[in-house]
Amino acid sequence: MHCYEADVLYEERTPYQYMLIFKNPLFGRCLALDGIVQVTQKDEFIYHEMFVHCPFQGMGAVPQNVLIIGGADGGVLREVLKYKEIKRIVHVEIDKAVLRACQKYLPDICGDWEDKRVELIIGDGARYVEEARARRETFDCILLDSTDPIGPAIALFEPLFHKMLFDVLSDNGVVVRQSGLPLTMPKVMPFVVKRFEEFFPTVEVYRAPVPAYGDEMAFVAASKAGRGISSPRGSLPYSGLFYNMEVHKASFALPTWWKRLISEYIDTEEVPIDSLY
Ligand code: SAM
Repeated sequence: MHCYEADVLYEERTPYQYMLIFKNPLFGRCLALDGIVQVTQKDEFIYHEMFVHCPFQGMGAVPQNVLIIGGADGGVLREVLKYKEIKRIVHVEIDKAVLRACQKYLPDICGDWEDKRVELIIGDGARYVEEARARRETFDCILLDSTDPIGPAIALFEPLFHKMLFDVLSDNGVVVRQSGLPLTMPKVMPFVVKRFEEFFPTVEVYRAPVPAYGDEMAFVAASKAGRGISSPRGSLPYSGLFYNMEVHKASFALPTWWKRLISEYIDTEEVPIDSLY
């Protein structure tokens, strides 16, 4: 998406990535990291509602403790906080500078990190999960809202990391991760499906249109219990600006070419992670 020079609001080369916050006449304020649009004021509600309410409504019971990795813009956190039944939310974000800039320039997207249920940790999500596994800590839902498989997010796409996610998920737990745009990065979603299929009994793909990204976004959900999350059975039905029960069900119907991407994917685990991108 074109960025007009005069619209730059803030930029910084952080220790992890190049951050740019700019204003676009169509999408409002936008965050880009390493030149890739992450979130825009105009359409973020779609992505963040689908990321959170599909697992929460599909699990059958609201998770009690939730782990969010990435998500410095706070949009996933905002949707998670809507569930008052949740007891604990651990949010692990590697780049404090991005989080601070989002609080300043994108306050309408951010959830409330001051909420007493939130434990904000500035650190590597892969390392946090490894340490949580060593402590035998588990979560009912893990939401992996990382950047694409480049830079600091590479560790979050390593094959072994998917096994660690299995180990820190409770028995009825679900992990959902953003798995890129099949249109422009066709290897990411099938790679994630294959990694999860090695450890999880149920792996599902669903989609959401994100205009600013240029096409539909793939989410991959892996469930430890058999049922999966494709049909909403939440005890507390929810409707948002985009998310509702019908949209939930329809989002798990995949176009033929997505199904072919999965069935025809040549799975070689030792593939360099950044070559997926
Ligand atoms: N919605 C966006 C998308 O679909 O790509 C993601 C938004 S969010 C801004 C991505 C966040 O992941 C960034 O703030 C980045 O710093 C964070 N991140 C990347 N690698 C990470 C890691 N290893 N541990 C924790 N956070 C990480």
